[in-house]
Amino acid sequence: MPAPPASATVLSFEDACRVIEEQAALTRAGALAGSTESVNLLWAAGRVLAEPVSADRDLPPFPRSTRDGYAVRSADLVRLPATLDVIAEIKAGEMPDKIPINIGSGQAASIMTGAPVPAGADAVVMVEYTFQRGHRVEITRGVSAGENIVPRGAEARAGALLLERGLRLDEAAIALAASVGKSRLQVQKRPLVAVLTTGDEIVGVDATPGPTQIRNSNSYSLAAQIGRAGGEPVLLPIAPDELQALRRLIEQGLRSDLLLLTGGVSMGRYDLVEQALSELDAEFFFTGAKIQPGRPVVFGKCGSTYFFGLPGNPVSTMVTFELFARPMLEALSGQSPRRRTFLHARLKKEISVKTGLKRFLPAILSGEFENSEVELVPWQGSGDIAAIARANCYMVIPADRERLSAGEWVAVMKGDC
Ligand code: AMP
Ligand code: MG
Repeated sequence: MPAPPASATVLSFEDACRVIEEQAALTRAGALAGSTESVNLLWAAGRVLAEPVSADRDLPPFPRSTRDGYAVRSADLVRLPATLDVIAEIKAGEMPDKIPINIGSGQAASIMTGAPVPAGADAVVMVEYTFQRGHRVEITRGVSAGENIVPRGAEARAGALLLERGLRLDEAAIALAASVGKSRLQVQKRPLVAVLTTGDEIVGVDATPGPTQIRNSNSYSLAAQIGRAGGEPVLLPIAPDELQALRRLIEQGLRSDLLLLTGGVSMGRYDLVEQALSELDAEFFFTGAKIQPGRPVVFGKCGSTYFFGLPGNPVSTMVTFELFARPMLEALSGQSPRRRTFLHARLKKEISVKTGLKRFLPAILSGEFENSEVELVPWQGSGDIAAIARANCYMVIPADRERLSAGEWVAVMKGDC
């Protein structure tokens, strides 16, 4: 039996998260001072912003009509129907200072969505409530001052900070960057994440496995998760359950920004990962968490590189990546801290479990709007890849609950939440 590291500690889920947050906070500052690169806005989705983005002018840059209709003085529409003189037509794209129009009492301008509202007008009446005959328009509905107009600068003033460093860019942030003329953005470089799978029984995907051999799926699921979390996976060769070779591959992996090992962290005679790391003078923050699946998860630091020993069962590998490795990877990529978000849904069928472990079980979330329901996927335990592939979320069961009744609200975790 390999000797457990001197500081072996099994933490509650909450304490393990706290440890990760502390180390992530220490890491983030360094990451933000680290290396950055410039990317085309088209390829910036999912990257972490490394420069502040500010408004280059007022947004909107002119009082903008939000409707097709007529720019009017609202006071002219107190008595209805009202008939006004149409003195101009204003299209989107017309320069407000080139429009020598001042809407006087009794006058209106036909106006399009996105066009600048002329001086004198204080509201826009939707075209649906109007009837134009020649140069006169009859209006059947009143408007209050300001209606259907976004004032100049109401969304942001010139110079205002719109996007902060450390933000993970989504489509809305990219739209905002585009709107202020940023066709390229300075972003953090992606951290390199070494993936080291261990186990004598593990063979490559292209190999024809012997009767007791297993194809390596963990390196592939991890590569997908790493990519989605903003890192760049570096796949190392499969490590055998043999100390020397394992240690050499760990040393290779420690040259990346983060090392993820899978397998070899349980209590079996050939679970050598912790021993190999101990021999390399690793510091262990925890060597287990009270969760299922994923209880044997290990987190530590060797030299200046953080590592996780993720349990080898494929569902355990996926869950422990989401829960623990992802926040650390996000910090390494300079991303600002964020709270985990959970959805809630009604439980479809009663569940009984043993207390003591917080559970993240493969489940199916279905139903629409206020009728969301969730049920567990039948599975053969944390080695069941077919079951996790049928699931679309994890159901979260608190450590102190023995029985959950049908119809109860339960927490649901989606991947990358
Ligand atoms: P271990 O954590 O090494 O005890 O492995 C637990 C279970 O996960 C065993 O059934 C292993 O065969 C399986 N396993 C370990 N690594 C992988 C991998 N890379 N791909 C698929 N299954 C794996
Ligand atoms: Mg193993």
